[in-house]
Amino acid sequence: MTRVINFSSGPATLPESVLRQAADEMMDWQGSGMSVMEMSHRGPEFTQILSQTQSLLRELLAVPDNYVVLLLQGGAIAENAIVPMNLISRTGHADYVVSGNWSLKSMQEAARYGQVHMAATSEAQGYNCMPALSSWALSAHPAYVHFCSNETIGGVECHWTPDTGDIPLVADMSSNIMSKPIDISRYGLIYAGAQKNIGPSGVTLVIVRRDLLGHATAATPSAFNYQLQADNDSMYNTPPTYAIYIMGLVLQHIQREGGLKDMEQHNLVKSDVLYDFLDHSSFFSNRVQRSDRSRMNVTFFLRDESLNTEFLQGAEAKGMVQLRGHRAAGGMRASIYNAMPLASVQKLRDYMFEFEKTHA
Ligand SMILES: *Cc1c(COP(=O)(O)O)cnc(C)c1O
Repeated sequence: MTRVINFSSGPATLPESVLRQAADEMMDWQGSGMSVMEMSHRGPEFTQILSQTQSLLRELLAVPDNYVVLLLQGGAIAENAIVPMNLISRTGHADYVVSGNWSLKSMQEAARYGQVHMAATSEAQGYNCMPALSSWALSAHPAYVHFCSNETIGGVECHWTPDTGDIPLVADMSSNIMSKPIDISRYGLIYAGAQKNIGPSGVTLVIVRRDLLGHATAATPSAFNYQLQADNDSMYNTPPTYAIYIMGLVLQHIQREGGLKDMEQHNLVKSDVLYDFLDHSSFFSNRVQRSDRSRMNVTFFLRDESLNTEFLQGAEAKGMVQLRGHRAAGGMRASIYNAMPLASVQKLRDYMFEFEKTHA
């Protein structure tokens, strides 16, 4: 068996120990005589898996008691609609900060469910930075302010928590959730698809402050009504059982590794390996404003873009795949989430060094 070094932006590489345990338990989960995929979601075995996963989420993220943790389906793109369906009716309009492709998409989708106001954008800068808080022009009494904490495509991360006072802050954290500790109490709602940092696709994490529940518009599908899902412990409909099980294994792995503080340290070291190299190279460059560089998605360009294909082929020959940048951004992108080992990042850096030496 040969495993590649997978720099995919998502679905992304998972810890090997998680895959091994899942393989061991595939036919018979802990003496139950069943695969997790075959279990009733209301049976004692899955009930145990679900509650363990939920309590690990609460523990690792230090979720305060006045927040509900939901495990839903539809991914972050569905949340772009589900969030306004559930929250926007409080005032009828919401504010969006646009720092790249994902937050732009969020705003465009929300416009179908209420009035949206773009409070700030970095479009003029080519989405290479996070709009400074001082530039956010909020509307009067928005139901919430939405931003994306890590723009997966551009490689732009918000390294501070926006202070929006009494206005609930909503964050799409799909690509940096659990990469570092966060203060949940500063947010009204956080959502994240699992397939970047915390599991496979198919399960969406939503953490929402309890007092924001109960405002869904009448047209909200029941399965996407936060209040209804909270009342039913995320079991109003059949939850994505297998994806939740794998997420639980990933969370156990994070806990064994020392929790989110250790994840943050690890992610700082890994991303610095690439950014330090990029800053000393005249052949490769990163175009993101220094203060806003993503620790999860390191984007870079070759000075001579006609060498892109050769660069990608050379990487693939060394077992390093999925380095091509998103088609909206071009160039290259190395996604180095929690599960990417330091040694793999160093191997990429060494390859880039070698490629530069032979082509510069
Ligand atoms: C991947 C990603 C999405 C899209 O997630 P889906 O699961 O395809 O809905 C949305 N936002 C961000 C920041 C992402 O990284």
